Amino acid sequence: MFKRLRPALVLFLTILLVGMSNPSPFAQEMGGTVYIREVPYAVADIGASRTRPPARVRQDPVSQAASLVQQARAQGLEYLQSKNEQSKKAAKKNLEEAEKILRKELKNNPACEKCLESLATAYFYMAYFGFSGKYDECIETAEKGLAQFPNNTRIAYTKAAAHYNTRQYPEAIKALKHFLVISSGDPQSEDRARQLLLDCQQCFLTGWYRQANFYQSPESRIEIINPQNAAREIIFQATPEWELTQGASAYTQLTANVPQLNDPEIQSYFEDLISRLVGKTPGPNFNYKVTVIDSPVVNAVTVPGHIMVATGLLTFAETESELVGVVAHELAHNYGHHAARRFIKATQAQLLAEYAASIVRAINPRSQTAQVVTQLAAQIGIGLFLNAYSRHEEKEADLYGAHIMFNAGWNPTALSLGFLKMYKMNPRQPVKFLSTHPPLQDRADYMTEYLENFPLEREMRLDSEAFQKIRARLMSRAPKGTIIPPPQ
Ligand SMILES: [Zn+2]
Repeated sequence: MFKRLRPALVLFLTILLVGMSNPSPFAQEMGGTVYIREVPYAVADIGASRTRPPARVRQDPVSQAASLVQQARAQGLEYLQSKNEQSKKAAKKNLEEAEKILRKELKNNPACEKCLESLATAYFYMAYFGFSGKYDECIETAEKGLAQFPNNTRIAYTKAAAHYNTRQYPEAIKALKHFLVISSGDPQSEDRARQLLLDCQQCFLTGWYRQANFYQSPESRIEIINPQNAAREIIFQATPEWELTQGASAYTQLTANVPQLNDPEIQSYFEDLISRLVGKTPGPNFNYKVTVIDSPVVNAVTVPGHIMVATGLLTFAETESELVGVVAHELAHNYGHHAARRFIKATQAQLLAEYAASIVRAINPRSQTAQVVTQLAAQIGIGLFLNAYSRHEEKEADLYGAHIMFNAGWNPTALSLGFLKMYKMNPRQPVKFLSTHPPLQDRADYMTEYLENFPLEREMRLDSEAFQKIRARLMSRAPKGTIIPPPQ
């Protein structure tokens, strides 16, 4: 038995190495996500199977199903390497057979730990080898298993691997951390889990970069179909220049009647701060003009090309990172192109309405529709930057804001600490920054969960002398009564 299994182990390791440089065609089919490492317990299972009773001895159904899953794994890996259709068929048959047995056993005994473990593994391989194409059933079974048996390391790892393969990195990180907590100390498995955790964190830290491609994405334009030749025509394309023009108009309106603070030291402190944050945000970024508003209101407002910060925020924040949290959140709205997206959605809806009313159904639709877009832009352009953002946009800005902070070297946990502090100051949320944002409790909850995904072991910036100096100076002044105009 031992001798017969040796080649299997060698084959497994060979596949593992080959797999590292050649992602399987299945992985590519599943959207290019490549889960390269094998689940670590696969090695242990091969070791364990050396002492397995000979095939002639009748196994109980649960052990039989577990053996079928292991056989299917070897056959599936063989198929991935050699493209041998027989192996593929055998793997699929064994997995289906195992599923049938395990589901039957679970019907009789829903608390069968081994059943849940093997079934989650079977579903994992069905997806991994491309038989089912999705990991939902694996994840669902693993969740059921962990709810009953939270210390089952195999289920925890299977769940992590399934999340990794579907690019659900926060869930994968959570499952891997859980695995490392409950792991009984097998150094090889733990090393692999740690390595996979690092991979997941890396993917998590760069996942939000996709927003940087906004101008190339279909979301940045409005297209119509020309009824004469059925060709798609772009009638509006968001560009940095367009956003900056809208931002400049909104800025003029926002600062029309507010006193500005002309303090070269505060000005240069802020310019430096903003350039550090913007410099670590991916993609084409706006150059920002900083305006310090002399107002006790705790607020910061940005539009493309401009950031306005009230002195009230500077004195409210006790550390630099609390200030940076609010500023990063605001910058994140621009990074997410929230106003431009809103404009495009509103215009599309308006165009549909106008088209239904036959206004746009003209002989030369392109020029006519383009005219409508121009008119609409004039009507709703500035309003976009002054209206409150939606809950979804606020949440996105919170999450992107945490990344902007982290990238620039500040500890993002200050973001949620800052929210809580504002809330404690007055739970009715009179603070301008909060009045248009999601309820604090929701916010603190999702932020706490999200921040778990950051590798925060290293020391990160929380405060600075420059900030404290400016704050002390502002605190010593008599308070002013004017306020920054609120978003409508
Ligand atoms: Zn916001």
